[in-house]
Amino acid sequence: MFPPEVQQSRNRLLIGLHNFQTKVYPEKQADYQRLVREGQSPDTLFITCADSRVDPELLTQSGPGEIFVSRNIGNLIPAYGELLGGISALLEYAVAALRVHQVVVCGHTDCGAMKALIHPEKVESMPTVKRWLRNAEAALSTVRARATAADETDLVEQLIEENVLLQMNHLRTHPAITGRLAQKSLAIFGWVYDIAHGQVRIFDEQQHKFLTFDGSNLEVQASAGIS
Ligand SMILES: [Zn+2]
Repeated sequence: MFPPEVQQSRNRLLIGLHNFQTKVYPEKQADYQRLVREGQSPDTLFITCADSRVDPELLTQSGPGEIFVSRNIGNLIPAYGELLGGISALLEYAVAALRVHQVVVCGHTDCGAMKALIHPEKVESMPTVKRWLRNAEAALSTVRARATAADETDLVEQLIEENVLLQMNHLRTHPAITGRLAQKSLAIFGWVYDIAHGQVRIFDEQQHKFLTFDGSNLEVQASAGIS
């Protein structure tokens, strides 16, 4: 027998699964079968934090087969050559095989990884997490050097945005990405999702700052961040 809290968690998932199988799947059966016949062809690679409060499919109202999602602690993308592994392989696959049209790097408010960067003592007992967070260290030194944060909340906010920009730069070090950028067949966008308010700030290359997306000028905003 599992302890009660394990049993409860297990049941919650299984109830969800049962709901999916009896209510959701029957309505979309034809779509799922088509996806298997035709294979997946997502148009977007969406890289975000593993934080359980971030739900990329819900946020972008995407269905199965529409976005290729990669999540890790802090939405980090090690620069090419630093840590050749899962992420480098994923980028190659998304860009070269799936031929996605855009990569979105999406950070979020209240990010524990960004807070841990500021307070490394919080992850002292987690050496692997600590090492992983090094991929965001340059963002911290940028915001510290800028020294415009009024308080720690502001510092975290700035770091969340700066980290998205840093990871966008890391993306551009990967040959698979660089090639597609040279062909102008791929765009990179930076987002910050504000969990409490349901808002998303999108980096605007021209104004060089994150602007809250309000649905207006969809075409203009959609092309503003093309790298
Ligand atoms: Zn996070």
